[in-house]
Order: sequence, then C-alpha cells, then structure tokens
Amino acid sequence: MSSIAVKTEQIHKTYTSGPQQVDVLKGVDMEVLSGEVAVIMGPSGVGKSTLLHIIGMLDRSDSGQLWITGRDVSGLDETAMARMRNATIGFVFQFHHLLPEFTALENVLIPAMLRDMHDADEHYARELLGRVGLSHRMTHKPSELSGGERQRVAVARALINKPQIVLADEPTGNLDKHSGEELYRLLLELNRALGQTLLIVTHNEHMADNAHRLITMDDGRIAGQKVINRVG
Ligand code: ADP
Ligand code: MG
Repeated sequence: MSSIAVKTEQIHKTYTSGPQQVDVLKGVDMEVLSGEVAVIMGPSGVGKSTLLHIIGMLDRSDSGQLWITGRDVSGLDETAMARMRNATIGFVFQFHHLLPEFTALENVLIPAMLRDMHDADEHYARELLGRVGLSHRMTHKPSELSGGERQRVAVARALINKPQIVLADEPTGNLDKHSGEELYRLLLELNRALGQTLLIVTHNEHMADNAHRLITMDDGRIAGQKVINRVG
C-alpha cells in the first residue's frame, strides 16, 4: 500500500478584487499517492496555479482541508507552515527565478542555505547538477546558460533539500519545444531515480501519457481523476 502524499477535501478559495468576488476554487477533492507523477490539466483560468500554491503552502484556502504526507496542515500557523514547506516541498515555476549574480552551483545551494548548510549539501548539489546534465556548467551564471539549462538548474534547486513532493507549474512555458521535451523526460527520470512525488501542471501530452495519475480541472473543480500507470 502506498501512502498518500497530498490530499485535499473541499478546498475553497475566493479572491476579492475591488467590488468583485471571484470564486476560483469551488470545493476541490483530490489525492496523489507517494511516488506518483500526477499531471494536472485544464483550460486557462480554472484555478490550477491557485491549487498548486495552496498545496505548496504558499497560499491558504478559505476553507477545506489539506494533508501533506499524511499530516493535516490546514490549521498550522505561519511559522509551522513555512517549516513544513521548506522541509517537504520543492518548487519549479514557469520562470526559473535564478539569482543572476550567482553561479548554477550557488543557485542550487540557496534553499540549503536558507535551511542551514551542511557539508554534504555542496556534494549533493554537484550530484544533482550532474543528474540534470550540467556537470560542465556548475560555475556558469544564469546569463551564460540557455533557457533549457536554466530551467534544469531550477529543477536541481527544487531537489536540494530532498523534498518528498515537487510541484511544477507549467515549467516549460518559456522553453522551445525541444528543450521542453527534454525537461519533461528529465522530470520523469528523476521521479524514477529519486522517488519523490511530482505534481505538474502542463499541457504536454508526453508528460500526460507517462504520468501515473491524470487530474483534470474545470471551473474551480476537479473534473476527472484517474490512475493511468502504476508506480514502479
Ligand atoms: P490557471 O492556473 O488554471 O490558469 P489561476 O489559478 O492562475 O488559473 O487563476 C484562476 C482565476 O483566479 C483567474 O480568473 C485569475 O484571474 C484569478 N486570480 C488568480 N490569482 C488572483 C489574485 N491574486 N487576485 C485576484 N484574482 C486572482
Ligand atoms: Mg496557471
């Protein structure tokens, strides 16, 4: 039996902008098992990013419950939530968010520095950069890397603290088709090698075909959820 990495129950979120209220999430129920690659698909504006931010504890729902690695995190205060987030979650965004004045290796190490650096971290950062195919680019700065390479550094950075869960929101949105396909192959390879749970918002069919779980969203709700491949 696999354990449940992420579970939501009746997550609601409303944004207020001026006099307008927008109900973005209208009762989201979903779950992802440990080790799974789950692909979240759906048209623009249905709440995919909002849901990912709530799961990643970057934002809070207005109501409903969220379990991360079996723990109910809905009631945690800011400090406890930040600690849980840093220990459990890695993020890959559409834009790489690398710091321009630092090398690839230093950028990968930033989340480790925010935690508290161990001697092992630099060794692991080098190993991760090797895994994403950038052994020869460790001392390059972001401006000296291609778009695909930058995003691979961002993937290594997401993994440095050994998160159990990696969240990726359209991580190839700024890449050309070839670099995008390469990044998807890499994410699948890393999931197989390291076993972290991966939730990814994408329109990519290769990723969807090779995922374990397909979740579709429509208008603030889960429209469909099915297991298409078993882990392992
Ligand atoms: P998706 O990722 O599926 O495209 P989002 O979660 O980004 O959808 O957004 C869903 C809806 O919520 C959109 O209508 C968007 O305009 C609105 N929205 C997102 N963030 C905010 C915000 N901070 N304030 C107000 N409205 C927002
Ligand atoms: Mg989005």
